[in-house]
Amino acid sequence: MLNIVLFGAPGCGKGTQSELLEQKYGLRHVSTGDVIRKQIAAGTPLGLEMKDYINRGELAPDSIVVDMIKEFLATQQEGKGTIFDGFPRTTSQAVEFDRILGEINEQVDVMIYMAVPEEELVSRILKRGIVSGRADDQSEDIIRNRISIYNRQTAIVADYYRAQGKYVEVPSTGTIDDVFARISAVVDKRIR
Ligand code: AMP
Repeated sequence: MLNIVLFGAPGCGKGTQSELLEQKYGLRHVSTGDVIRKQIAAGTPLGLEMKDYINRGELAPDSIVVDMIKEFLATQQEGKGTIFDGFPRTTSQAVEFDRILGEINEQVDVMIYMAVPEEELVSRILKRGIVSGRADDQSEDIIRNRISIYNRQTAIVADYYRAQGKYVEVPSTGTIDDVFARISAVVDKRIR
């Protein structure tokens, strides 16, 4: 199976590109942010616990998101592979991820870093907020907080995959199709 970590700051286009990759390569897609939003919408106890983190733009606790991924891996065993979107977001999630993938004889094949300048991220998210209705997309303060948390806690995860020789940077400005062509070229090289 091909396991892709699609990585980058909030607003870099991970969700959009994941959907295109899903269609083109028949890969599964899991977004921890989507799983959390579904739990919140369903009003589950987990959703209630997550609501404050997500609305403030802060990271949810590692153990909870790792459990979400464990659950996904336990229930979704068929298919050609998976795009992990928005996970891992801390080095400890990445370490734990390697361990749980190892238990099922799987591994991360590539981490694709979608590079977008910070000011473009802010304007993209503000635009998305008009249609997404996401509480964390509405205020520039919360958006900047999410980007600063990304810079402080998440960007370093790239080093973890770089050390494993799995890191690939893809410039992710231009049209959606331009970015998709660049990402597809990376995936094509790794299709088994
Ligand atoms: P996203 O949809 O990927 O932008 O995620 C939205 C929010 O969900 C983030 O701002 C965090 O509050 C939470 N979240 C999603 N994925 C993770 C993760 N891997 N670790 C911690 N928090 C997460």
